[in-house]
Amino acid sequence: MTKLHVRWAGLTAAIVAAVGLLAVPNATAEVAPFPELALPFKAGQRVYSAGIHSDDGSTGVKNAIDFSPADGTVRAPLAGTVHLQHCAGGDWVTIDHAGGWRTGYYHMEDIKVTDGEQVEAGAVLGSTGNALPCGGSSTGAHVHFTLWTLPDAPAEPARAADAGNWDGLAFGAVSTTVAQAYGEPVDGKTLGGWRFAAGADQYTGTATYVADDAVTQLPGRFRAKL
Ligand SMILES: [Zn+2]
Repeated sequence: MTKLHVRWAGLTAAIVAAVGLLAVPNATAEVAPFPELALPFKAGQRVYSAGIHSDDGSTGVKNAIDFSPADGTVRAPLAGTVHLQHCAGGDWVTIDHAGGWRTGYYHMEDIKVTDGEQVEAGAVLGSTGNALPCGGSSTGAHVHFTLWTLPDAPAEPARAADAGNWDGLAFGAVSTTVAQAYGEPVDGKTLGGWRFAAGADQYTGTATYVADDAVTQLPGRFRAKL
């Protein structure tokens, strides 16, 4: 439930030490505003989106959206640091961006990036697919794109591992425990000039092209213009 940002905890601890206070006011966690992201594939092509949903597709924050771009190639929507999350069934990709934001790419096949790699916006991550490295399910090649916020520089090693290293974590845990702690809604976010709004039901919503207010109902197809 609590989105504790450990850099704040570290800072407040330092303040406590410095001024000798026994208690400090509650510091509200601060994450940078949602950054300007591209869509996670090349512009100028049609894409099918199965809509906005929670990570597990049934309950919790709707922090995910499925994309199937025509060229089947998934790209970084913003520069960042790749973390490959390893499971018995293979790997999946997360990218940590400046400001405490993390994006995720599940079901990809033919992964082209390595653990710790710094990528620029537009870097090829892999191909849409049906991979289930840590479990879950998929019907039809796509990428399950997910949003989380994580502390930039966790002060406590244990917390850092908890926050950033999901190796071996079943997708069932990522989509529940992790999503509850760190998941951020896709609703209201803009990617590549398209603003996404979640619907009442799972796998629904809209994509609105901000420049002309053209609305695509999801699930549905639209053209990535930027
Ligand atoms: Zn999905």
